[in-house]
Amino acid sequence: MNFHEYQAKEIFASYGIPIPAGIVARSVDEAVAAAEKLGGDAWVVKAQVHAGGRGKAGGVKFSTSLDAVKENTKNMLGMTIETYQTGGMALPVNEVLITAAADIKQEIYLSVLVDRANKCISFVVCAEGGMDIEEVAKTTPELIHTVIVENNEGLYPYECRKVGFQMGLTSKQTRQLTGIMLALHKMFVENDLALVEVNPLIIDGNDDIVALDAKIAIDDNALFRHKNLAALRDKTQEDPAEAEAHEHELNYIKLDGNIACMVNGAGLAMATMDVIKLKGGDPANFLDVGGGATAARVATAFKIILSDKNVKSILVNIFGGIVRCDLIAQGIIDAIKEVGVEQPIIVRLEGTNVEKGKALIEQSGLAVIAADDLDDAANKAVAAVA
Ligand code: ADP
Ligand code: MG
Repeated sequence: MNFHEYQAKEIFASYGIPIPAGIVARSVDEAVAAAEKLGGDAWVVKAQVHAGGRGKAGGVKFSTSLDAVKENTKNMLGMTIETYQTGGMALPVNEVLITAAADIKQEIYLSVLVDRANKCISFVVCAEGGMDIEEVAKTTPELIHTVIVENNEGLYPYECRKVGFQMGLTSKQTRQLTGIMLALHKMFVENDLALVEVNPLIIDGNDDIVALDAKIAIDDNALFRHKNLAALRDKTQEDPAEAEAHEHELNYIKLDGNIACMVNGAGLAMATMDVIKLKGGDPANFLDVGGGATAARVATAFKIILSDKNVKSILVNIFGGIVRCDLIAQGIIDAIKEVGVEQPIIVRLEGTNVEKGKALIEQSGLAVIAADDLDDAANKAVAAVA
């Protein structure tokens, strides 16, 4: 799950990481009041969406008068932002962060991530941060420093100091960078984060290091033990079908193909997608209805699948282990009747009470195509879209 910049910055502040003063606004009046309260004579209006790349998409506006704050907020609230990080979605701007304009001497890039190759947390730091960091990574990768944090030992201050000196920071700045990196590491571990990105971390007019931007993602599997963070979820920033699936504890990920899949168990869902591919088809989604799939959940799953207009056929692949096939069959029948599915549905049932389940589907009179096994099911699903 992702957070807004202002939410991430509040968490930063609680760990003692320096951030510029800022106030969130949800209307033009709130924005002007925020700027007045912050004082000074220049502000930056920042669109709050779950993506970086806002600067290049018109979501970060320097404003040197209260009128400019007003105008920029008016233009930004209600607009949508699509950047290379939004995965094709246009994210609505419902909030802006009004923040004091900083005097920027240098922009540094810093991120903390789960480093799968090294099986640990790593820091990535670069003295040439800012909006063109992707370009820097491509053309001058030698400028990028990586600090691998040994799991058992944690982050040592000397490793942070080394990066500071390599980047040519002064000893005061290196001390500040070290404090920030240690605080970020603590924050990362304590909150089960998946990613932290500070781009830019700036050196300001007083030669101090400040986090000017903040991006945080938490591991969804850890949300249950971070209720305070789970409460910050902003569904307006998520794909509506994926958000609805999440609400019903369905594991749904939309893909680009046209054969929808409804499967119980993540492993079986992966195998189903593989076999569809093998047969020359393209899955429209990954969908794990879970071990305890009830009729209501199956109905919701159908609705979510059908919200994707690309879907041309639906492959239901259920292995009745804990769930019984007759219960699932009834769920499928009820759901088809309730939702009104027009696309061909290919059903492969296997496991406990499979005969009863198959009989129920046959007696229902619905135009469901029965399949003997996964191979047969995939062939039929691919044939149905040809
Ligand atoms: P994004 O990463 O989504 O483009 P940032 O918060 O990084 O958004 O802002 C983009 C750029 O705008 C920064 O690299 C910085 O140059 C400038 N900027 C952002 N906030 C401020 C601020 N408070 N004062 C001055 N410049 C800012
Ligand atoms: Mg940024």
